[in-house]
Parts: sequence; C-alpha cells; structure tokens
Amino acid sequence: MNYKSTRNSQIGVSAAAAIAGGISAEGGLYVPQNLPRLDESRLDRLIGMDYRRRASDILGDFLTDFTEGEITACANAAYGAQFDSPHIAPIAKLSPDVYMLELWHGPTCAFKDMALQLLPHLLTRSVAKTAGGKTIDILVATSGDTGKAALEGFKDVPGTNILVFYPEVGVSEIQKRQMTSQEGKNVNVCGVRGNFDDTQTAVKGIFTDKNLTGRLAARNAMFSSANSINWGRLAPQIVYYVSAWCDLVAGEEIARGDTVNICVPTGNFGNILAAYYAKRMGLPIGRLICASNINKVLTDFISTGVYDRRREFHATSSPSMDILISSNLERLLFALTGEDSAAVSAMMEELSASGSYSVPQKLLGALQDEFYGGSANEEETLLTVRETFDRYGYLCDTHTAVALKVHGEYVRRTGDSAKTIIASTASPFKFAGSILKALTGEASGPDEFERMKRLAEITGTEPPPQLMGLRDKHERFLEICDKDEMCRFVCSALEI
Ligand SMILES: *Cc1c(COP(=O)(O)O)cnc(C)c1O
Repeated sequence: MNYKSTRNSQIGVSAAAAIAGGISAEGGLYVPQNLPRLDESRLDRLIGMDYRRRASDILGDFLTDFTEGEITACANAAYGAQFDSPHIAPIAKLSPDVYMLELWHGPTCAFKDMALQLLPHLLTRSVAKTAGGKTIDILVATSGDTGKAALEGFKDVPGTNILVFYPEVGVSEIQKRQMTSQEGKNVNVCGVRGNFDDTQTAVKGIFTDKNLTGRLAARNAMFSSANSINWGRLAPQIVYYVSAWCDLVAGEEIARGDTVNICVPTGNFGNILAAYYAKRMGLPIGRLICASNINKVLTDFISTGVYDRRREFHATSSPSMDILISSNLERLLFALTGEDSAAVSAMMEELSASGSYSVPQKLLGALQDEFYGGSANEEETLLTVRETFDRYGYLCDTHTAVALKVHGEYVRRTGDSAKTIIASTASPFKFAGSILKALTGEASGPDEFERMKRLAEITGTEPPPQLMGLRDKHERFLEICDKDEMCRFVCSALEI
C-alpha cells in the first residue's frame, strides 16, 4: 500500500518512505491511499488472536513493503515483558455500559508507549529500506509524555541518537524526573527556558536548518521525528481499538456485529483519529466522543465549524491535552472533504496566517455525524476522579477523568447509552498530586513520591515501580538552556 499527502493527493510513497520522512515535502501529512477492510470473517479471525498477533495482522495491511517476518519481529519486540499486563492493553469494566481501555501498562505509564515502543523498530527498518546505512538523529519537543516514551523507545537502539527538549515550566514533576534520569548511551535531554510552543518552534527550525542538515548529511546521518504526525505512530494506535472490540466479543460483553461508542481524551487528535480509521475500516463503532479540557478548541470546532486557536492558553491538571493546534485534525479534514488536498492546504494556510479557519456547512454536517465534542473544566475533572473512585472503586488519572465527564454529559444530552469504550491514557500515579487533591482536598506530602505513597495507601493500590523507583535514580541531565541555545546543544550532543 502506498501513501499520499493531505496537501498533495497525487503522490504515492511507500510506507517505509512515509515513516522515514515523517512529513511530506509540501508540509502535508501522509495518509494511506486506501484503507484496508475489516470484514466479518477477518474480525472473527482476529478475535482468536493475542495482542501481538492482532498487531502483526493489522499492521501488515498498512506496511506492505515490510515482510511478514519483519512485522512479526517488530510487534513481538514492542509488545513484550516491558508491559506489566500480558494483555498489553487490558480492559476494566467500570459499569454495565462503560469499559476502560487501559493504555498505560507500558514502561512510561502513558498511552504514548503503545506507539513509541514500536516506532523505533519501524523507523530503523524504514530508514534501512529507503536511506540504507544512515544514522538517525531524533529530535523531540515534548509537553511531557511523548519525551519520556520516545527516550524509552529509542534508548540504545543501534544507529540512532535521541535528543529531547522539554519546557522548563509546564511538565509535571514526575514527567521531568522521568526524563532527567533517563538511561542509555544515545540519549540526551535538555530543559528550555520558555513554553512548549517556543520549544516546538525552535525544534522545527533546527529540522530545516540547511547548515545543520548539510553537516549531518556529510556524516551520513539525518534528522527524524518521533512526534504524532508520523504515520508510524498512528498505525499502532488503530490496533488497540480493534483489539478492544475483539476482547469485548471474546469476553461475551457484546455480540459480533454490536456497535460500541468510543470516547477519547484528546490533545493533538492522534488517538481519536486512530479510532476513526478503525471505524472506516469496518470496525462496528458508533459515535466518536472527543473530550477536551478547558483548552477546548476542538469542542468549539465540532459545534460551530470554526477552528480558532486565538485564545488564552490554560495550564491544567491534564497537561498532555494543553494544546491549541491539533495537528492530526488535518488528516480528518482530508477524509471529510473527500480527499480535497487543495481545500485542506487552504485551511491550513489560513490557520497559520490568521490563527483560524472555518469549514463549509456540508463538512460540518459530516463532522457532527461522526463526532460529539465536549469539555470538562478543572473542577469537573477533579470531581470526576473522586466520584469515579467513590462509586466504582476505580482510580483514574486526570486525562481519563475528562473523558469520563464528557461521556456522562453525552449520555444525558443524547440519550445514547450504547456500550462505550473509554480510552484511559495514563496511570493516575503519574499525576499523584492532582489525584490526591481530588480525593482528599489537599495535595499532602512534601514531594511527589510521598504523594504517590499516600495515594497508594488510601486507595489500596500499588504505585508503578518505574515511577516510585525514580526517587533513587541519578538525575543525569540537568542542563537548562535558552531557546536560541538549542542549536548549539544539538551540535555538541551530536558532535557535529
Ligand atoms: C498525549 C496524551 C493525550 C492526548 O492524545 P492525542 O493523541 O494528542 O490526542 C491524552 N492523555 C495523555 C495522558 C497523553 O499523554
């Protein structure tokens, strides 16, 4: 299968080229030329498989320039003992109609692991196929979870180096410790004086710096990106929605052919877009419920058809959703316009020029047929954490609480009480301070490790050892730089 670009539907590049390239030459995102089909007999076969085999089977359709052996090797390496559940993405039943799809059983306790444990294997093989022998230097700007998941995925992977920049203010204490104590010979981490947008803009500038890329090329190396616009991060996310549906059938929670709704706490629109693709492939999915925190650009877009990022940015207790430009929305617009790359290019240009764009009435109708958008404010989020624990004995993180709140509102407003899968995107212990505040009214304890212990005590649960263990880990990377020093940091880290 080949891939076209959201800003040029005429091109066709291989999966390896799409993954190695990350973004297309005109700045568009890669999408498959056609989506594989999940018909009934295919779903029947998938129901009988474990997570690794389901992943190999589904990814095989998207990565046709990889051999079956290669794909199996990648999936087996990605979804192994580094997950603390043999099911990889287990489901917890919250109530008769609500199922929590727990995507945080990987090494960094957030759903980013589901894709970033696999991406290094896909990327190194993609580069070997398309630019044989080149060293890959991965640059990442992170608002918290992506940086650590990418570091864990790429640490000590031969032929790669990884450099992560995080904004000095904006990431949680645990997220920061996860990065500054990272092990591995090919890793580097640096804090930046500025916010996430500054960091991201500077990284983009380094990617396209002709002087730097020239010096890298002379050393047979190239920059690459591990952020969520890479197709290699999206494809693995389709797998867990298919797998969850199969698990519900296998566990006799639903019948074959039953439709389920899916609700996703959303930031960059990557996770929910994967659910949309699963639906288009034939998975019986009803409504897609898009949940935002108070940075509710997407809620407003789904209700009015106007995307407007010109608004105040709020730092919330669900920091991985604090985002005003949801990059992956571009892929949805491409699909909903009937793959009109000229229209998509015009909207994206309008967004970068004026900070806003609007879609025609017909497109808005199509959007609203598929998606419901809702948001939760800070108070509602913390209240939902508490109510969910009190009512069901289930401890969820702040991001997942946003989804639960919006789902409840959806059911009340529409009367649609179909069985629903909620994407649970992080371990509550990653945000122990906020969760403790939600449960007890105060974030007691002098530091996050004390708070984790306290949270474990009052809820009768265990903190993940990889988070608790950070306390005794040496912090290797304490450098903080200004944004105009990032380039120098890259040069010295890569010795170019
Ligand atoms: C990244 C992240 C999200 C948002 O996912 P998108 O794919 O960016 O929409 C939600 N919750 C957590 C915990 C995350 O790390």
